[in-house]
Amino acid sequence: MSRLNPRQQEAVNYVGGPLLVLAGAGSGKTSVITRKIAHLVQNCGIRAQHIVAMTFTNKAAREMKERVGTLLKGPEARGLTVSTFHNLGMNIIRKEYAPLGYKPGFSIFDDGDIKALLTDIMQKEYAGDDGADEVKNYIDSWKNDLILPDEALAGARNPKEQTAAIVYLHYQRTLKAYNAVDFNDLILLPVKLFQEHQDILEKWQNRIRYLLVDEYQDTNSSQYLLVKLLVGMRNQITVVGDDDQSIYAWRGARPENLNLLKEDYPSLKVVMLEQNYRSTSRILKCANTLIANNPHAFEKQLWSEMGMGDEIRVIRTRNEDAECERVALEILTEHLRTQRPYSDFAILYRGNYQAKLMELKLQHHQIPYRLSGGTSFFARQEVKDLMSYFRLLVNPDDDNAFLRVINVPRREIGSTTLEKLGNYANERKISMYAASDEIGLGEHLDSRYTERLARFKRWMDGVREQCVINEPIAAIRSMVMDIDYENWLRQNASSDKVAEARMGNVWFLVDALKNTLDKDEEGDMTIEDAIGKLVLRDMLERQQEEEEGADGVQMMTMHASKGLEFPSVYIIGFEEEILPHRSSIESDTIEEERRLAYVGITRAKRNLALTFAAKRKQYGEIIECTPSRFLDELPPEDLVWEGQEEAPVEVKAARGNDALASMRAMLKR
Ligand code: ATP
Ligand code: MG
Repeated sequence: MSRLNPRQQEAVNYVGGPLLVLAGAGSGKTSVITRKIAHLVQNCGIRAQHIVAMTFTNKAAREMKERVGTLLKGPEARGLTVSTFHNLGMNIIRKEYAPLGYKPGFSIFDDGDIKALLTDIMQKEYAGDDGADEVKNYIDSWKNDLILPDEALAGARNPKEQTAAIVYLHYQRTLKAYNAVDFNDLILLPVKLFQEHQDILEKWQNRIRYLLVDEYQDTNSSQYLLVKLLVGMRNQITVVGDDDQSIYAWRGARPENLNLLKEDYPSLKVVMLEQNYRSTSRILKCANTLIANNPHAFEKQLWSEMGMGDEIRVIRTRNEDAECERVALEILTEHLRTQRPYSDFAILYRGNYQAKLMELKLQHHQIPYRLSGGTSFFARQEVKDLMSYFRLLVNPDDDNAFLRVINVPRREIGSTTLEKLGNYANERKISMYAASDEIGLGEHLDSRYTERLARFKRWMDGVREQCVINEPIAAIRSMVMDIDYENWLRQNASSDKVAEARMGNVWFLVDALKNTLDKDEEGDMTIEDAIGKLVLRDMLERQQEEEEGADGVQMMTMHASKGLEFPSVYIIGFEEEILPHRSSIESDTIEEERRLAYVGITRAKRNLALTFAAKRKQYGEIIECTPSRFLDELPPEDLVWEGQEEAPVEVKAARGNDALASMRAMLKR
C-alpha cells in the first residue's frame, strides 16, 4: 500500500469540519477518499453504515468499494454506502415514496420513454411534436436547477419557453399518474422531500454521519443541494475535485460550486495536492500546457517523479479506416511483444459513434475488448420488451410499458381499440391497465376486444400474484414461457441463430435480476426494487455484465473515462469538429472541450498516442479533416509525429505551430 504524502495525510486526518481537496488529475484525490473512509471507521469510531461516499459512475463506485475492501476487514465495511447520486436518490425514494405521493414499484423512465411521452403530450396539446428534443432540454435544465413546472411557467421569458413550461406541467402530471419518475427526479424529488419534511430529513441526517464526494466539480445545483441538506449543521463532509476536469456543464454542472462551498461553509478548510503519482512528466507537461490555455480561478501546480517517459505520439492516417486499423495493430503487436494484458490499453473517443469502426477492427484481429457505453445490452429490442413486462408487473400504472407489451407477442389488439381504451382510462383517471377489465369499457368496444384486454389483465394479475406467493424469479421464468416469447422471436428474426442469441439475452436479463436480488445485503429488497436497480444501472453505465472480469482493451468515451487510469492510452479522432466537437465550436464553448481533452490525456500513465485521419466519411460523404487545434497547444518538443509518409522533411524539422500549419497546408493539398 502506498504511503500518503503529508498533504494527503492531513486531508485524511482532518475531521474537525468541512474539507475541500482541490487538486489536479492523478494527485490522489480518490485515494484520499478511500483512505479517509478507513480512517473514519478505524480511528474515529464512525460505523461504516453511517458513511456515504458519492462517486460519478457505477464503475467508479465499484472500484472505490474494492479499494476500501482492501483497507477494511469484512465486518468493518458492512453497511458502507458507495454510490452515485442517482442511486442514492433512488434509495431515498424507494424508502420514502409515500410522502412523495408515489406508490411502491415506481418506474424509472429512460430517454425512449420520455421522448414518447413528450411527443404524445405535444401532439395532444399542440397538434404537433416539433421540437420535442428542445422541450426536453428545457425540462432537463429546469429540473437540474430545481425549478418546478409552475415556477418555470411564471419565469418563462418568451413563447418558446412558455410552450416548454406548459408541456413540462403536463409531463410531470403524467409521470405521476404513471407512478413513474425520470432520471432528474431521482435528485429533485429527494431534495423537495427534505425541504418540506424536516422529520424525514433529520432521519436521513442521522443515518449519514459523514459524507464524502468525489469528482465534486461535476455536481449540479440540485445534487449540491442534496449534499447540503444531508450534511446539515454537522458539517461532516469531505469533497474532492478538480475544476480543470469539469466536463458536465451540459448536464448542469457548475464549477462555481467550488466557490459556493466556501460561502456556504465559512470554516471550510482547503487542501491542495501537487504531486501526481499517475503519469510520466512528459504526459503531465502536455496536460498542463494544454489546460494553461483556459482561464483559471485556482492556480494549481502538478509535478511527477515518474521520470520523463516516452514522447507523446501524434499519428496521422489516411482515413478513419486506417486510423482504427493502426490502433488495433499496434495494440496487438504490443500485447504480443510485451505480454502486457489487453486491459492495459484504453481507446478513448469523443462520441460513442466513433466506437463502431474501432470495434470492427478489434474483432477482425481477434482482440478482446470491453466497451463501456454505446449500444447497450439494454437498448436491444428483446431486452426492452422484457423490461417493459417487468415494469408493468411491478407498476400497473405504467402506461408506456403497457403499450409496449400489449402486442408483443401479438394479441390482436389494434390501435383503435387501444385509443378507445386510452380515452376511457383518461376520463376515469385510471391507468390503461386498470381500465382493461372494466365493465364500462363495453360501451365503447366490441366484446371481442374487451375480452382480449380482460384476458391479458387476468393473466398479468396472475403472474403478479405468483411473484408474491412463489419465488419471484420462478414466476418470471414461467411468464416468459407463457407468452412463448421464443416463438415470437423466431417469427421476427432473420434466422434461428439470431433468435437464439436474442433469447439468450432474455435469460441473461432474468439472471441479472436474480443476481440483483441475491446480492442484496440488507435483505429487504423487493422485486420492485431489483427491477428499479436494473433500469437505473442501464441508464448509468450501459455495460454488459458478462464481459466483466475478462481481459480486454478498454473502449469508452472521454466522459466515461473520468477518474480511471491506464498504462497506454489512445485518443482517436483528435480533429477539429470531433474534439473540439462541432457544436462546441459553434456555441463557443471550447474551454469545456479543452477540459475534456485534459481528462483524456491525464488518464495515461506511460504511453499516450493521439490519432487523426486526413479524410473520413461523414453522412456518406468523404470530407477533409483538420487536426485538432489542441495539438497546437501541446509542447512541440514533446511530440513525435508519425504516419505522415508524404510529409516533406522541413515539416518534420519545423517547430510547433509552424509544423502544424505546414501539415494543415499539406493536408489541404
Ligand atoms: P483523477 O483526478 O484522475 O480522479 P485522483 O486525484 O483521484 O485522479 P487517484 O486516482 O486517487 O488520483 O490516484 C492516482 C494514482 O496515484 C493511483 O494509481 C493511486 O494509487 C496513486 N497514488 C495516490 N497517492 C499516492 C501516494 N501517496 N503514493 C503513491 N501512489 C499514490
Ligand atoms: Mg479520482
